[in-house]
Amino acid sequence: MTTRSLNETYENYREQAITQRRFSPELVQQLLAKLPSAFKVEEIGKSAEGRAISLVKIGKGSKKILFWSQMHGDESTATAALFDMFNFFGSMYSSISELNFLKDEILKHSTLYFVPMLNPDGALHWTRRNSQQIDLNRDALALQAPESRILKDLQQRILPDFGFNLHDQNNYYTAGNQPTPSTIAFLAPPIDYAKTINLTRQQAMQVIGRLAGELQEFIPQGIAKFTDDFEPRAFGDNMQRWGTSTILVESGALAGDAEKQTIRKLNFILLMRATELIARNEYSTTNLQAYHQIPTNEKLLKDVILRNVQHPTYPNTRIDLAFNRSATPLAPAAQGLPAFAEEGSIDDIGDLSIYFGYETLDCTNYQINYTGTLAVGQNPTLFIKDAQNQVVATVENGFLKRNL
Ligand SMILES: [Zn+2]
Repeated sequence: MTTRSLNETYENYREQAITQRRFSPELVQQLLAKLPSAFKVEEIGKSAEGRAISLVKIGKGSKKILFWSQMHGDESTATAALFDMFNFFGSMYSSISELNFLKDEILKHSTLYFVPMLNPDGALHWTRRNSQQIDLNRDALALQAPESRILKDLQQRILPDFGFNLHDQNNYYTAGNQPTPSTIAFLAPPIDYAKTINLTRQQAMQVIGRLAGELQEFIPQGIAKFTDDFEPRAFGDNMQRWGTSTILVESGALAGDAEKQTIRKLNFILLMRATELIARNEYSTTNLQAYHQIPTNEKLLKDVILRNVQHPTYPNTRIDLAFNRSATPLAPAAQGLPAFAEEGSIDDIGDLSIYFGYETLDCTNYQINYTGTLAVGQNPTLFIKDAQNQVVATVENGFLKRNL
């Protein structure tokens, strides 16, 4: 099976210059400059701050597939996976004949177009938005950002059959109503408020249905379907309207994968497999049920939940307390330096019984002291004490530390 072979041989293709989530537009340009001559690399415009945005093309088949990543500057997982794909297509022949055949077939039946890092300014500054503070994914109609115009012009010029809209989502989504994080969320974006399924959208659903089934082997509880509410200003929804079967991929969380390098590998496997499905027209018999039965993406996770806390100020009140952490970038993006500082804050207070925690502590038999302010959005330090007044745990900067 293709996905298994790709999984087993991944290390041969992993782009080794990228080792963590945050990497610079400069590195992207350096790597593009080194691509073998089988690839055609073209600058298709500049960002608001004047950074190059490039298109990479390979293959000579009739099925046209466009991949664009990192339109949100702080969502980089798929960009790294696109470079892994370049290494696959640019590599010498594999010892696994199935993969040689795969490479030949894909390049014969399809032409692949890639825009790795559509928002280089946001990538450098590690912001979702571009440097004009525009969210490119709400600019598909207004087209006020140069990056948005570049993407729209490219779609109109190529008229791709399929499009892959590659994003990251935060760590707090689950795949359905259960505690496992949503590692990969898919969507075939709707084309209208009625969520009409035309042929363009149906084909995207079919590819997703196949992928979700095959990825079960790697992340059995981690595959979800992103919310299908119509967003008239978003690129995915409009690409679908413009006739490109569009697949949204959101890279979420996976336990023990803070830098998302395992999720990057999953991106490589799923994007390669999707390309194969399209090149070989293998998706067209897939029943839409395979898509519809994917559990929905729910925002049910918190970093830390303390349950049944006696309110320090109102002793007759029991509350749950949730902390989340956010990552702020440390100055300049550089390999080998810590890329982020994590900062915690209280996310919610009250009955949080519907939520799951990456870490939870039942505080029924404990007392809580704190320094700072106990309010949503604040970042107090908590001391959790037992009946003997011993500190059994602390929460500091959103991290739970147990003294056991
Ligand atoms: Zn995004």
